[in-house]
Amino acid sequence: MAYDAVIIGSGLSGLAAGIRLAMFDKKVCIVEKHTVLGGLNSFYVRKNRTFDVGLHAMTNFTPKGVRNSPLGKLLKQLRFSHDDFRLCQQHMSEIRFPEHSLRFTNDFDFFRQEVADQFPKEIDGFNKLVEKILSFDELDLNDGKTLSSRPILESFIKDPILIDMLNCPLMYYGNAREGDMDFYQFVIMFKSVFVEGFAKPVGGMHYILHLLEQKFKQLGGELRMGAGVTSINAENGTVKSLTLENGEQLAAETVISSMGYVETLNRCAPALKETEECEIGQVSFMESLCVVDREPRDLGYDKSIVFFSTQPRFDYKVPDEMINVSTGVLCCSNNFDYPEPMKEGLIRLTNLANFAQWDTLPRKDYIAAKKHWRGRALESVFTFFPDFRDNVVFLDSFTPKTIKKYTGHLNGAVYGSPHKIKNGKTPVNNLFICGTDQGFLGIIGATLSGISMANLHVLRK
Ligand SMILES: Cc1cc2nc3c(=O)[nH]c(=O)nc-3n(C[C@H](O)[C@H](O)[C@H](O)COP(=O)(O)OP(=O)(O)OC[C@H]3O[C@@H](n4cnc5c(N)ncnc54)[C@H](O)[C@@H]3O)c2cc1C
Repeated sequence: MAYDAVIIGSGLSGLAAGIRLAMFDKKVCIVEKHTVLGGLNSFYVRKNRTFDVGLHAMTNFTPKGVRNSPLGKLLKQLRFSHDDFRLCQQHMSEIRFPEHSLRFTNDFDFFRQEVADQFPKEIDGFNKLVEKILSFDELDLNDGKTLSSRPILESFIKDPILIDMLNCPLMYYGNAREGDMDFYQFVIMFKSVFVEGFAKPVGGMHYILHLLEQKFKQLGGELRMGAGVTSINAENGTVKSLTLENGEQLAAETVISSMGYVETLNRCAPALKETEECEIGQVSFMESLCVVDREPRDLGYDKSIVFFSTQPRFDYKVPDEMINVSTGVLCCSNNFDYPEPMKEGLIRLTNLANFAQWDTLPRKDYIAAKKHWRGRALESVFTFFPDFRDNVVFLDSFTPKTIKKYTGHLNGAVYGSPHKIKNGKTPVNNLFICGTDQGFLGIIGATLSGISMANLHVLRK
């Protein structure tokens, strides 16, 4: 018998879409090519330690009782309480450039004051920009216009360093485009990082994913792991079935895919001419995880997350070398308000990376290259922050190649294509996309994307 809906991918958007549909008694199946849930935000085990793949922090933190925020809407739509997510707020984060530092917490007025103290001539323009951001409807699914954010920022702020400093965290946490950012995306990220803020769940992504999986299954949803989709079979512009790696065919009324737009179209049979025109993402990262023998704050790392540039100007682009060591993100998982301290200290370092260079590296040189570039990245960090090399007890890194392997995203593009399909439509009638390429990014964004695409294309049909 045909499913009402099949969802491709068990990342956050796929799980959320599945829960929403199962909640309304739809016969729904999630098919996932890997054996572990979570996609870009999964977890893995090394030497008896469980690491989150992507979790620095959940953006969009709002306190209990706030219902009209993205987090409030997500909890309501998936019928979770705020307590279910066990969120612990950040202590304080920072944007650090050679001449300036801007600190921020989950209280936006603190950040406003930092801007006033560091850039007194710019505070009026900054406040006007904030007014524009707060009144902007970034969630309009039918708005197809794209506006670049840089000219808009320059109309409010004259100092390019302040513009770079504002862009730095927002680009690292959600920009698929090199150099500039679409303004609606800038607004989403500004609200989620500065106006709302950061938190982490006790138990990390393992806990959150388990919560979502349990709810999906309790509602009668079917989850098939190790079930990669090899082809999406259409007749007269309508999907009839999906073929899985084992040759099995699943018939579905509607298909929602979280694989990425071009990655989804690439699987369509017969082939679609639109596939050739798709803009493919380029931005990817190398991430290094350093387990240290004490609390990071005892090593001089007292911030939750630091977005840094050792150069006066910040350039968000694919580096010419394997990675760009002059800018990055440092995340100290311990510096969140956990009820109990974490067992070990963990400092994560993210650097922009060049997929093509990692991908063409001969297999025999890959491990050595990871070690070499991690060493260079840390050396650069230690010109700006205290040296913790003697305190490291375990190191691990992953590269754009790993991201491609585990998500299927072309070029290991973390944030997918720069061209987002806000309404989730594809050239095939009953095939929709959710997640990264729909345009709501990050943990909360991807989850909301799954909810809104399920609502729009199945429940409100
Ligand atoms: C290093 C890193 C750090 C990050 N840090 C943060 C952070 O701190 N905070 C934050 O909010 N966000 C962070 N993110 C972003 C966040 O992880 C993503 O935005 C979010 O997880 C995307 O979810 P998704 O459901 O759209 O896609 P994905 O997680 O990519 O899910 C897609 C799923 O589809 C599956 N799939 C692909 N092809 C097929 C196929 N053919 N058949 C079946 N299944 C298939 C994949 O295996 C995957 O499970 C980070 C990401 C990375 C990589």
